[in-house]
Amino acid sequence: MTASDLAYVPFVDVEEMMHLILDIGLETCLADLTNYIEEDFRRWPLFDKTPRVAAHSSNGVIELMPTSDGQEYAFKYVNGHPGNMKKGLQTVTAFGLLADVESGYPLLLSEMTLLTALRTAATSALATRLLARPGSRTVAMIGNGAQSEFQALALKKVCGITALRLFDTDPEATRKCMANLAGSGLDITSYKTAEEAVMDADIITTCTADKQMATVLHDNMIGAGVHINAIGGDCPGKTELQADILNRANVFVEYPPQTRIEGEIQQMASDFPVTELWEVLSGTAEGRRDARQITLFDGVGFAIEDFSALRWLRDQVERLGGGKRLDLIADPDDPRDLFGMIERERHRRNPA
Ligand code: NAD
Repeated sequence: MTASDLAYVPFVDVEEMMHLILDIGLETCLADLTNYIEEDFRRWPLFDKTPRVAAHSSNGVIELMPTSDGQEYAFKYVNGHPGNMKKGLQTVTAFGLLADVESGYPLLLSEMTLLTALRTAATSALATRLLARPGSRTVAMIGNGAQSEFQALALKKVCGITALRLFDTDPEATRKCMANLAGSGLDITSYKTAEEAVMDADIITTCTADKQMATVLHDNMIGAGVHINAIGGDCPGKTELQADILNRANVFVEYPPQTRIEGEIQQMASDFPVTELWEVLSGTAEGRRDARQITLFDGVGFAIEDFSALRWLRDQVERLGGGKRLDLIADPDDPRDLFGMIERERHRRNPA
């Protein structure tokens, strides 16, 4: 590849991402992504890891999420603003970049609002495949906003879920989710309270947005053997579960230094015992022990999942073609003559 080839960076915009998802099929994307994330979690010690860099404000948070496996580097820019929805804006938006470590040149720039929804759902599916009771078929989804359909379809495709029980404090969100999933093959029921929705569910996923210590699930709602994916509590001051649930459950996390700041376990002492998901995958830690145990995936979203998502996307763009070529990197004929490049452009514009 020449220097000028590297100067034009493949760019996947929102329209292109939607076409890619439609061409491949959403459920296939979710299953593939689950496998890419699993592959990267299995080589976890190789990665540079750091809690994401967060800039908090009264309305929300803006975060940068970097990581590298030594060959490739990725970062994501992502926000979380629970009040945005009321202004007609999304709670979460994102974009990100994959780069070559050897040259430092970008390999792919992409929208990541859609890709984040896919990778978050794929990560929940990975945790559920690993930790839920075998034969789990029913999921209760508390919070029916932007992430919810992706979460439901990933659990259907990857974990064999057949029934979906929905609850949201805003009935309009539940109606939207039901309508979007009408042709999915899932048996869908809506409920008026979270208590009713979680009754007899094998799996509970909470994906609500509220920048406060919320209590979406109370301890008395959680029966033996349930697996919980708690993904909405993902920054300081933003949790979904009553602390008593954490005391009864075995808690599984992505990267403890980040989850202790952002996850449900921010409510607990700094030495509260947790198991890292990658250790269960690599066989160095135990997952579910028995059918009565409560397993809880305290998911906050970690940079390696975005790395996996960008790696998956790069492979799809290479396989299927596509990706606009973005003139992102200045490419002077003589690499030391950046100034001269502007001068040559001046002469080109004004030949006289
Ligand atoms: P969204 O604003 O589109 O939807 C959130 C929904 O939660 C809304 O419909 C709202 O009415 C509902 N809700 C709020 N409080 C509730 C309660 N007490 N009970 C039931 N429903 C309630 O947000 P989204 O994009 O779907 O994201 C959901 C959450 O997931 C956010 O908090 C977001 O920050 C988080 N998130 C986490 C990850 C991760 O990796 N863990 C990734 C993306 C988003």
